[in-house]
Amino acid sequence: MLHSVSLESHSPTVAEVDLTAFKENTQKLKKHVEKSMLLAVVKTNAYGHGIIPIGHEAVNAGADRLGVTTVEEGAMLRESGISAPIHILSSVIPEQAVDIVSYRLTASISSRKLARAISEEATKQGQHIPVHLKLDTGLHRFGVDPHDVVDFCNTCYHLQGLYWEGIYTHFSSADEGDWQLTEQQYTLFMETVIKLNKQGFNFPVRHVGGSTITIERKDMHLEMVRPGLALFGYHPVQRQQGIIKLKPVMKIKSQLLHVREIPANTPVGYGGSYVTSTKEKIAIVPIGHGDGYQRLLSNKGEMLVKGKRVKIVGTISLDQTLINVTGIPDISSGDEVILLGRQGDEEISARDIANWIHSVVDEVLASLMERVRREYV
Ligand SMILES: *Cc1c(COP(=O)(O)O)cnc(C)c1O
Repeated sequence: MLHSVSLESHSPTVAEVDLTAFKENTQKLKKHVEKSMLLAVVKTNAYGHGIIPIGHEAVNAGADRLGVTTVEEGAMLRESGISAPIHILSSVIPEQAVDIVSYRLTASISSRKLARAISEEATKQGQHIPVHLKLDTGLHRFGVDPHDVVDFCNTCYHLQGLYWEGIYTHFSSADEGDWQLTEQQYTLFMETVIKLNKQGFNFPVRHVGGSTITIERKDMHLEMVRPGLALFGYHPVQRQQGIIKLKPVMKIKSQLLHVREIPANTPVGYGGSYVTSTKEKIAIVPIGHGDGYQRLLSNKGEMLVKGKRVKIVGTISLDQTLINVTGIPDISSGDEVILLGRQGDEEISARDIANWIHSVVDEVLASLMERVRREYV
């Protein structure tokens, strides 16, 4: 009977993904951008929400395209039946050209080697596949240098099997609200595109921005925008909340395993990093840093029990976290506990969690491990 044993989780800890909220966020953003195409960024397992269900919901809600960072994510989406264009937004190695062509993924090209590899593979498979040129206008992560781009196009633009459908860049400081730097990058991008056009190198689809540009800078939408985080209900920065209303898509809930009374002056958890000051009621929640619930939340973070905020106490372990439920009446094992989301009048947002550990919302959402069961509602 060994084959019947699996690692499938029966833990009460569940990430609830609200597909209706996701759909509404996508539709709102699509309406907000009016004429441009919307590429829904579903990288990193859809920021932790599950790439397959989210990818399909995005397309159903009106996203024109999808964006991922790995060839594997793109291949999974294709195999699950997505026919919309799927962009690989990161740099990939030439060895991945076979999969890029086989799955008809739209690669971001910034190296001659990759351009040649995809060209050769497309020719071999009798294909003509779309690619986008990535320009580096200041993020200095990857992309062709604007000074080198004419040269680049002289060697790569006419390679067999490639269709240069688009050109794009990514801003370094839009979320920080540094419009001066962002506008400089934008100007450099537009000037470079014009320079290329004059040499006969045309790219019909130009795109520059993620959620922040989608929400705040209609003047930079061009032919396409690439929101990610906003689809999942979070504005990259709070100043955007007045512009468009979004609804968080993920809720994380669990159940109290044990509730115990611990005497005063007693150390609790690994290393005794928390010591009770009076007689206290301590409960165990079955989640830990092995689930992606950051250890940095030890003695800092909060959860919701019976509609009240309670503190995490002691050091978070791989699988378990302790909370102080002293003073909350009628509490017992089996009671619901909310780690992310609303309960009664209180709410813990991914931004709260990010603030507690000096991180960002994307990291909080995307770090939730696969072993935490996702439930789609
Ligand atoms: C991640 C990413 C996005 C989406 O960014 P958000 O700020 O989450 O909207 C857009 N474009 C590129 C190239 C990305 O890597």
